[in-house]
Amino acid sequence: MKVAIVGGGLAGLAAAVGLSGRGWQIELFEARRQLGGRAGSFHDPVSGQWVDHCQHVGMACCTNLVDFCRRTGLAADFRRGSLLHFFGPEGGCYRFAASPWLPAPLHLGPSLLRLGYLPRRDRLSIARALWRLARLAIDDAEDAPTVGDWLRSQKQSDVAMERFWSVVLVSALGEELDRASLAHARKVFVDGFMASRHAYQIDIPQTPLSELYGGTLQTWLAASGVTVHLAAAARRVEGDGSRVSAVVLADETRVSVDAAIVAVPWRRVREIFDQALAARLSELATTEQIESAPITGVHLWFDREITPLPHAVLVGRLSQWLFNRGRRAGDEASPAGHYYQVVISASRNLAGRPRQDVIEQIVSELAEIWPAARGARLLHARMVSEQAAVFSVRPGIDRLRPPQQTAIANLALAGDWTRTGWPSTMEGAVRSGYLAAEAIMRASGQPQRLLVPDLPRGWLARLLLRSSGTGDTR
Ligand SMILES: Cc1cc2nc3c(=O)[nH]c(=O)nc-3n(C[C@H](O)[C@H](O)[C@H](O)COP(=O)(O)OP(=O)(O)OC[C@H]3O[C@@H](n4cnc5c(N)ncnc54)[C@H](O)[C@@H]3O)c2cc1C
Repeated sequence: MKVAIVGGGLAGLAAAVGLSGRGWQIELFEARRQLGGRAGSFHDPVSGQWVDHCQHVGMACCTNLVDFCRRTGLAADFRRGSLLHFFGPEGGCYRFAASPWLPAPLHLGPSLLRLGYLPRRDRLSIARALWRLARLAIDDAEDAPTVGDWLRSQKQSDVAMERFWSVVLVSALGEELDRASLAHARKVFVDGFMASRHAYQIDIPQTPLSELYGGTLQTWLAASGVTVHLAAAARRVEGDGSRVSAVVLADETRVSVDAAIVAVPWRRVREIFDQALAARLSELATTEQIESAPITGVHLWFDREITPLPHAVLVGRLSQWLFNRGRRAGDEASPAGHYYQVVISASRNLAGRPRQDVIEQIVSELAEIWPAARGARLLHARMVSEQAAVFSVRPGIDRLRPPQQTAIANLALAGDWTRTGWPSTMEGAVRSGYLAAEAIMRASGQPQRLLVPDLPRGWLARLLLRSSGTGDTR
């Protein structure tokens, strides 16, 4: 039985990993010259380095991403961090980690109460709102309040909104408080911070993403019998309206298949099906209403180390997160330097601003925090903005997201934008790939479970918290 997977982002890759070793002949078609899709890299000729379009971070609560990395050998290239550093607007550093003594959901309470850049009354009011949020039953309808509306109804001050709620939610959801769904915001806090002691810990790749996919993963796929076709865009998926029969490539090569998983971005998915299939796929009608949100990565090479910290959260500034990507030795062609990356999620307000202006603001923000940056020379800088980095988690978004199983038995959809209950993340993409592979196996009469459960909840969290409530995947 031959299955075609169209799209070599994390969703398509997870589908391939899920199906491998189960008797399928798997052919994966990726339009670009490298795997990884939005979680990819480019070659920067000045530094001579492969550079991720933008730093990608997972969390311990991303159980399917963790499983995908473990199965394929990628886990060795990730480093887990349990200590976060928040830098307040005045430049002070606040350590954020789980208390060794308190069970979930109280384990991060002491760190929250020590965030001294927030007035004491705001810290208490945030703790109260978190408690209410965790106990809230939400219907994520289109006309439901945004998380910004709800927080204001909970009397959260502008300071608390800017210095706490935005700091956590804008990077986790890739969207502003006044646009983001309350149900998804609640999921971030419940699943990411409250339900389980280790959920908040972050996983950071130590090598460029292209190296992970182009090296370790491609070797694993080849050894597992998955044939990867790069620079092989699918032009059309064909069928008779009840079954998919072939994938036609851009050069008109026709590949006959027994099943297909289409794992392209939501903006491309409708155009790929021939008329007979498109007429049956009414679930795709809503994908046009899915909006995008931008993320910007600013890459900076200094002549010296400005901080040894692996990462830092910057509060009340344009820069949101700083990642330390280490020292590069340098050679005749490109200078040595210390490479840092600053990430700005939901970066709409950068549109139209000159790049140099943004880079100067970021460098001066870093200099306000780290004295070493004041004397450092900036050797090279690049700013990369992805306008359609993620889908916008607006209220009601889950109603626009189709399930992986389509009305056509031998066709499944995958992609972070399909119905996973997760926002636009690597975890969402991997979940969708596993669910799509499950759908194809079910249709062929060999049902298998691939989806990995969430982290187990602590005993007190089980007693106190509601489940996270965004569209369940089953
Ligand atoms: C700047 C930025 C920062 C991010 N930061 C994070 C983060 O820190 N943590 C996190 O969890 N997530 C992050 N994300 C989100 C994450 O990258 C995505 O959720 C995830 O990679 C989506 O994977 P996907 O497979 O669903 O889609 P994609 O990665 O978009 O993959 C789709 C693939 O299909 C291919 N394709 C399209 N058309 C065709 C065709 N006709 N034929 C063949 N192939 C085709 C594309 O080339 C692409 O490779 C970030 C995204 C961006 C852009």
